[in-house]
Amino acid sequence: MVEFLILCKKCMTVVALDSFCSSCGARLWSDARLEVKAQGVTKEFIPNGSYDIVKLGRLSLDEVLDLMARIPQEYHPTKEDWCPVHLLIGPVPGRGGNGFTISYIGDGLFYFFDEKDYVPQMHLIRREVEMILKDLYISSQGET
Ligand SMILES: [Zn+2]
Repeated sequence: MVEFLILCKKCMTVVALDSFCSSCGARLWSDARLEVKAQGVTKEFIPNGSYDIVKLGRLSLDEVLDLMARIPQEYHPTKEDWCPVHLLIGPVPGRGGNGFTISYIGDGLFYFFDEKDYVPQMHLIRREVEMILKDLYISSQGET
């Protein structure tokens, strides 16, 4: 599993990336909010296979993690033309206006696409996507 480290700006200790600093207890990211849109779901975030874009507004990290947890693990589009559940996040400040996309591809696996380097990461488990999201939210801290 990918393990991220971060410098706590309060106590200047390098700690594992988590909600709070393991050394001093400070919260490791602000309440940064990023623009989030979704595809493949209704406004209530129920999978429907639609390509229509649903605007979810500016969401905090906790809210995005909550959405990811609400994607039914057993969900799998059955028709070829059905749109999987997508979260389109960004632009992210400090990343040249680029955003990123998370798609649920079924069987508990996600696809992650970064508009900045165009390198897709396939077959990520939810925990790996959560770590990437935390890293991105931390990198946008203080810039939103
Ligand atoms: Zn600290």
